[in-house]
Amino acid sequence: MRTNNKDKSQWQPATVTIHGGKRRDEHGALVAPLYQTATFSFENTAQGSARFAGEEAGYIYSRLGNPTVTELEERVAALEGFPAAAAAATGMGAVSATMLAFVEQGDHVLVSDAIYGCSFALFSHLFTKFGITVDFVDMADLAKTRAAIRSNTKLVFLESPVNPHLKVIDIQAIADVAHEVNARLVVDNTFMTPLLQQPRQQGADLVLHSATKYLNGHGDVVAGIVCGSEDDIELIKLTTLKDMGATMSPHDAWLILRGLKTLDVRMERHCANAVKVAEYLRAKDLVKTIYFPGFADHPAQALMGTQMHGAGAVIAFELHGDINTARQLLDSLQLITIAVSLGDAETLIQHPASMTHSPYTPEARAAAGITDTLIRISVGLEAVEDIIADLEQAFAACSNSQMTTTGEQVRYG
Ligand SMILES: *Cc1c(COP(=O)(O)O)cnc(C)c1O
Repeated sequence: MRTNNKDKSQWQPATVTIHGGKRRDEHGALVAPLYQTATFSFENTAQGSARFAGEEAGYIYSRLGNPTVTELEERVAALEGFPAAAAAATGMGAVSATMLAFVEQGDHVLVSDAIYGCSFALFSHLFTKFGITVDFVDMADLAKTRAAIRSNTKLVFLESPVNPHLKVIDIQAIADVAHEVNARLVVDNTFMTPLLQQPRQQGADLVLHSATKYLNGHGDVVAGIVCGSEDDIELIKLTTLKDMGATMSPHDAWLILRGLKTLDVRMERHCANAVKVAEYLRAKDLVKTIYFPGFADHPAQALMGTQMHGAGAVIAFELHGDINTARQLLDSLQLITIAVSLGDAETLIQHPASMTHSPYTPEARAAAGITDTLIRISVGLEAVEDIIADLEQAFAACSNSQMTTTGEQVRYG
């Protein structure tokens, strides 16, 4: 087997997205073969027992490991700068397998107060059912975070930028607070990708993704992955992943390996398009507030160049008006697609209050600042002129109908 003679740790991220974890196929296939198999045969009983005993390396059964999945795990681990990774069936599979591996009854978990809706549901409903205490805190406020940590805090969980307001959290500062009580810091890095943010450099112990989003990037897979130390990843694989079973299908791993090859060029286009769409939206009268870490006056700029190497391509904005204004804007779009999810080639737009954040109670939604006119857009890879033209005609449709109902032009702002 030909091994690569270059020191892979010196590779630039763009190279790792294409070559990370690659093994040489016996036939020289350029693209990793898809090992679409549930199980692996043993030469004889001695080999079977040696594999089960861990005395011989090799695959046994695809829930325990599969060569296509291994290649993906090694590639993403290399991108995030960790020694190991465990692939999961979905992003939520990665969140739950990671978090449940390190807690037991009586433990405390500290969570950022605005996170992905299903992560919120998992922590606030399921965890508490099993005697795990969970507190939610505004992690942009360091004093509050410090006050909320306890001696029995085992895990601290955050997303940055925070969905959907794109508030940023200083990961290093939270890591320091977590490590004072020997808690692990888990960061959901879905919005940034390892090309824009590598939370390990700021002290995160485990970094996870919904690979459904940018890592795959083509909207045809739901998947997740978590990166960490060899020991932590082995624990996750041998307990919560193996026994609860949310492991990744080899076919999904194969598709994500393909998607990853273009991650670097996709992120460049996503980010460039997002800046233009954000500037366009900011100038609209109907837009009351806009949230985008790329603006020069956004607090994220303090962490730009250190924690973050780009603003990403998710923008949130609030409209003047009420829920019907938001609905009308979305319903007037022709190119931009109304759909949850993000990180796809297609520009996707959604209404958090009635969609991604509907698992929140109305009180929790209000506390998290998710108003009825808040809209989230994931800027895609289309020509940005076409994205903006579609928004322009939808805004025009909104003001026209306002004129019809009131008989005069409405001034917003
Ligand atoms: C989508 C998403 C998840 C959940 O991932 P699934 O693949 O849908 O299970 C978790 N965190 C963030 C930030 C997400 O955007």
